[in-house]
Order: sequence, then C-alpha cells, then structure tokens
Amino acid sequence: MKKIILTGDRPTGKLHIGHYVGSLRRRVELQNAGDYDAMYVMIADAQALTDNADHPEKVRQNIIQVALDYLSCGLDPNKITIFIQSLVPQLTELSFYYMNLVTVSRLQRNPTVKSEIQMRDFEASIPVGFFTYPISQAADITAFHATAVPAGEDQKPMLEQTNEIVRKFNATYGETLTEAQILLPENQACLRLPGTDGKAKMSKSLGNCIYLSDSPEEVRQKVMNMFTDPTHLKVSDPGHIEGNTVFTYLDAFCKDEHFAQFCPDYQNLDEMKAHYQRGGLGDVKVKKFLNQVIQSELEPIRRRRAKYEADIPFVLDVLKAGSEKAAKVAQQTLDEVRAAMKLNYFDTDEFAKEQLALFSKS
Ligand code: ATP
Ligand code: MG
Repeated sequence: MKKIILTGDRPTGKLHIGHYVGSLRRRVELQNAGDYDAMYVMIADAQALTDNADHPEKVRQNIIQVALDYLSCGLDPNKITIFIQSLVPQLTELSFYYMNLVTVSRLQRNPTVKSEIQMRDFEASIPVGFFTYPISQAADITAFHATAVPAGEDQKPMLEQTNEIVRKFNATYGETLTEAQILLPENQACLRLPGTDGKAKMSKSLGNCIYLSDSPEEVRQKVMNMFTDPTHLKVSDPGHIEGNTVFTYLDAFCKDEHFAQFCPDYQNLDEMKAHYQRGGLGDVKVKKFLNQVIQSELEPIRRRRAKYEADIPFVLDVLKAGSEKAAKVAQQTLDEVRAAMKLNYFDTDEFAKEQLALFSKS
C-alpha cells in the first residue's frame, strides 16, 4: 500500500509554536526523510468558515500567512503539495455522501467538538457546518487515500471518526476508501502545548500564543510574562515543575546543546529541573534561558519568512498549482466513490443497458 500523508491548518490566524511542535516540525522531518509516496498539506479555509461565517475577510487574509508559515518552516513545494481546501470542491461532495454514514449522537459524543463548542460559547446556536466538521475532515483525509496524518492530540477523535466512516463505507459499498493513522508527537509536552497563560491549549482562538512570525522582542516579552508556579514566590522556595508552563515549553524545545550554548551551569534539563525543585533557582533565569532556546529555533524560520515575503507571486503560484493538482487527485477518489455508490450513471454503458433491459421486458 502507498504511504500518503495529509495534514492541514485552519487559516484563522498565523501559526504558533503549538502548531510547530504538534505537527509542523514532524511534517518537515517526514518530508525530508522522503519515506512516503505523496504528502498533501491543506489550508482549511472552508473548515475555518464553519465558525467564522461572518468573517470571510479574516480567512482570506490568513491564507497567505499560513502559506508563509509553511514555507518558512521548511515545507518544500518541490517535494509536497500545498493546497487550499475550497479550491477542491470534490471534498464537499464526498462530505455530503459521508453524512449519511454518521449519526447525530455520534457527532455529539466527539470530545474535541464538545470542548470547542463550549470554548466558543455556541451552546444552543451551533452552526450545522461546525457541528459536522469531523465529517468534512474525513473527506479531506480519504480524498487523498491518506494513510498517515501528523497532528496534535486534539485530532485523535477526528481520525477515529474518519476510520469509522471508512469502515462503514467499505462495508456498505465495497472496498474503496483507505484507513489512516494519526502520527502524534513522540514528546509528551508536544501533544497539546499549553498557552502562555497556562491554559490547556495554545490556540489562535484563545489569544495565548507565541507566533512563529513574532519578532524577537515580542517573543521575549511573552516568555518573560509567562505563567509559572504560583507557589514559587522567593528564589529560595522549592518550585513545582508539573503544570509549570515554562518547563513544559522547555520539555518541548530544549536540547542538551542549548545548555552548553546558553546556560552552562547545567548539563541538561533534568539538572535544571532538580535545582528548581530544591529551591534556589529563580523564574527569571529559567525564562531567560527559555527565551534563548525559542529564539534559536525561530531564527532560521524568520530568515526564510523574510525571503518568501519578498516573493509573494511565488507563494501564490505554489498555492494555485498545488490546488489544481489536489483537485485532480480528489476527483479520482470521487469517481471511485461514485462508482461504488452506483452513481456513475453515464461513465460506462452499464446503466443504459440495465434500463433498456428493464423497459424492453415490459
Ligand atoms: P483554532 O483556534 O482556529 O482552532 P488552532 O490553534 O487550534 O486554531 P488548528 O488549525 O485547529 O489550530 O490546528 C492545526 C494543527 O495544529 C492540528 O494538527 C492541531 O492538532 C495542531 N495544534 C494546534 N494547537 C496545538 C497545540 N497547542 N499543541 C499541539 N498541537 C496543536
Ligand atoms: Mg483548532
């Protein structure tokens, strides 16, 4: 079986370091390892509209921002296909057929959708499009026969839903669609990076993000204002690591080399953590170190971003060509799906023969 990767992001804002550790970094590694047959990266504008119907301008403006974030992180359009979801209308048709295979109560049980509904205060006025977006994600994934989806932990229920649809479809209409596996980050801290405010998830919608495109000064300020251990008042107090966002970020970003480079008092993160827990290590010193670690990770990303910002026509070409290619691939799957569902009336002469036979008898 071919190894095919699909992932994406909603153009609801610029991408942040949660996206980076949760999915983007892995995508670049997978791309460069070359151990796959095809890789598709989607800017999910149609999905972004499911909770931004009144803000089409926001979605439109962020298309290019997300594309710039991709290219600056090292995604390479010569190796992979980057496309815009709404330019692949085949995905909408697939969603429409898949809707028949999912119950309302199954969607209501989806824990990610549940918490997102709460977060957005939708309660009684959930847009149907938003409620059903797990089905549209199933269309995105299956349209490319994806076998792997590198994503953060919040996407797990979406992959479960997708695979249920695949199994139901194949059982009903014959073997057509392919099941996919989520590729979660191996590092626990990256599964769901918390926000700078200590909230459960860094998220564009919560405004608690460090963006990949933030200036060095913006990053420094955000790091220095970060949530730590509220019981660690004096430097000499013993501090807590659990739930301490600064240490979670260090878990996500820091390598032993960073200590040699920026903080030679310690050999590695375990030593620094032990000192903090004993007492005698102040938050400011840890934050200054974290700032240097994040800056060193963001530096090459910033440099590439500046290069692509100076060549927007290139970025637009990447999106246009990628979307055309993605539409061709999705059309093939749609043809297979329509054939399996017996909707391919005029693709062969079978339907005409059946009808003729039926009516000639009478
Ligand atoms: P929104 O608030 O608009 O939903 P978001 O910040 O949640 O935006 P998405 O575009 O929904 O971002 O998510 C894109 C990808 O990034 C998904 O694979 C998701 O799992 C991953 N991701 C997003 N936030 C984080 C995070 N804080 N930690 C790890 N992965 C994340
Ligand atoms: Mg999200």
